[in-house]
Amino acid sequence: MQTNNSTAGSLFVVAAPSGAGKSTLVNALLAQEPAIKLSISYTTRPPRPGEQDGREYHFTTPEDFLARKAQGEFLESAEVHGNYYGTSRIIIEDQMRSGTDVLLEIDWQGAQQVRKQFPGAVGIFILPPSIPALEERLKKRGQDEPHVITKRILAAGGEMAHSPEFEYVIINQDFATALSELNAIVKATRCRFAQQATRHYELFAQLGIHANAN
Ligand code: 5GP
Repeated sequence: MQTNNSTAGSLFVVAAPSGAGKSTLVNALLAQEPAIKLSISYTTRPPRPGEQDGREYHFTTPEDFLARKAQGEFLESAEVHGNYYGTSRIIIEDQMRSGTDVLLEIDWQGAQQVRKQFPGAVGIFILPPSIPALEERLKKRGQDEPHVITKRILAAGGEMAHSPEFEYVIINQDFATALSELNAIVKATRCRFAQQATRHYELFAQLGIHANAN
């Protein structure tokens, strides 16, 4: 397979309010599609029980985070629920250039910043089937202090108000259905003309197809 080394890789941006089941869905997708690279963000949030530095996040201090931000290290960054979060620019740009599909699990503020820099990024918003379901998932997860859970429930409405900015919406009522929808979005994105023409550069040339023809 030949690529012209431009943007054969796709950039997926997945957002959701806390408790919509986003991480579980994304992890299941990555188990099925190991070629997609999940970006590990930097955060000033303390690790939850079971979380490991460098696996879920690069955990850091506000001082270190702000120094990295000042040096332009982040493709996007935002303050969410009182903590800073940011995506490493260099890693994403390298992966995109080498044709790797990359997935960012970030909030709507970060998604807005990414969209400006990568207009071809595919935005996917995960919605809960109801507000009570969201609350129940957050409480059952049992990983956050009660005041943190309350804060996140209160923030959910404001976050979901940004869902119209995303190209795709998945309602996570039935997990298997939601996962197959997420998978379908990934597969359809890979079949976009621009992606195929870049990935199969030589074939398109042999077939006499010119990407810029209109
Ligand atoms: P949590 O603390 O539950 O892991 O994440 C809280 C929120 O921050 C989630 O909406 C998550 O998607 C978002 N988030 C995680 N990493 C990043 C990032 O690098 N940038 C932005 N803008 N948001 C992030």
